[in-house]
Amino acid sequence: MIGIGIVGLPNVGKSTLFNAITKAGAAEAANYPFCTIEPNIGMVTVPDNRLDALSEIINPQRVQHATVEFVDIAGLVKGAANGEGLGNKFLSNIRSTAAICQVVRCFEDENVVHVEGSVDPIRDIEVINSELILADLETIERAIEKQSKLLKAKNKDAVKIMPVLEKSKAHLEESKLLQTLDFSEEEFQLLKVYQFLTLKPMMFAANVAEDDLVSGNEYVEKVKEYAKSLDAEVAIVSARVEAELQEMDEEDKAMFLEELGVTEPGLNRLIRAGFKLLGLQTYFTAGVKEVRAWTIKIGDTAPKAAGEIHTDFEKGFIRAKVVAYEEFVKNNGWKGSQEAGVLRLEGKEYIVKDGDLMEFLFNV
Ligand code: GDP
Repeated sequence: MIGIGIVGLPNVGKSTLFNAITKAGAAEAANYPFCTIEPNIGMVTVPDNRLDALSEIINPQRVQHATVEFVDIAGLVKGAANGEGLGNKFLSNIRSTAAICQVVRCFEDENVVHVEGSVDPIRDIEVINSELILADLETIERAIEKQSKLLKAKNKDAVKIMPVLEKSKAHLEESKLLQTLDFSEEEFQLLKVYQFLTLKPMMFAANVAEDDLVSGNEYVEKVKEYAKSLDAEVAIVSARVEAELQEMDEEDKAMFLEELGVTEPGLNRLIRAGFKLLGLQTYFTAGVKEVRAWTIKIGDTAPKAAGEIHTDFEKGFIRAKVVAYEEFVKNNGWKGSQEAGVLRLEGKEYIVKDGDLMEFLFNV
């Protein structure tokens, strides 16, 4: 599955934000020759200060950040689930993403028409959500039709899945997102094949005017309150500011950020929140050739983490040398960490923690 789908009503600032994201990514794209970026897919590096600190200690030839993909998903309007506008294309695009970022308009601007006639972020979120719900309902109705035939033929899988589908359908019919329904792990696994849109992790990007970037505004507060009920993150950004920032050199950027009263571009917060939303975390390798952030799932074991580098590392995994990031920095690198007794040897069962520095021992 590819990254995070950016959705939202027309004219809320999706393209502006997405273009800023791809520009930020393009600056780094030379580092990623394997990556073909399609027009609606942008890859960005995940901002991480820890890499700077590690570089200072190691002084490596190269530094590699972790990356996240964003996908610009156009065409979500009222009626998309009924196939209006780009409806169907929209649905297939969004199905292939692992998580959803809803861009919500929290800025007033008479010159930018609002498709619903006024600025009202909660109404907008509900328009989007109801399209997602309708799309899931359609998927579920088709699934039930198919499974009920199998059920007649006494198919064992159908016996298991039918009640889960029925329960999900009832929930959707109450206009609720599937992510607010309790599923057991087994039920959750059974539903996986359907790639339900309302089960995907969700976050919100509140698009504000430049002046509201630091303080937020009443619209943002409403979005935050709504997001709390879903346990979702809200990143405050100004799409226009982000677009402008991408046109500037480093010096001007720093000055502009200072004027705005922020320490970093909103895009950084958005990207980090997205990374977390995908259930991802980072571990580091640190050698003179390269200091690098590797992306793994939260809960991955040491061999799995090694497999990110090379499948042979996973297959032949023996042990890993591990130092927590803070200890590594405090003790000024591998040698100091060993001397201080904070370097550990971990085996196959070890669950990697965010920020671990790792070195693998393996059989070839
Ligand atoms: P999309 O339809 O959601 O992709 O929206 P666009 O990114 O095309 O933006 C629609 C219009 O809103 C454009 O004219 C943008 O310049 C404008 N816009 C986007 N973000 C902002 C913002 O933060 N503030 C203001 N005032 N206008 C914005």
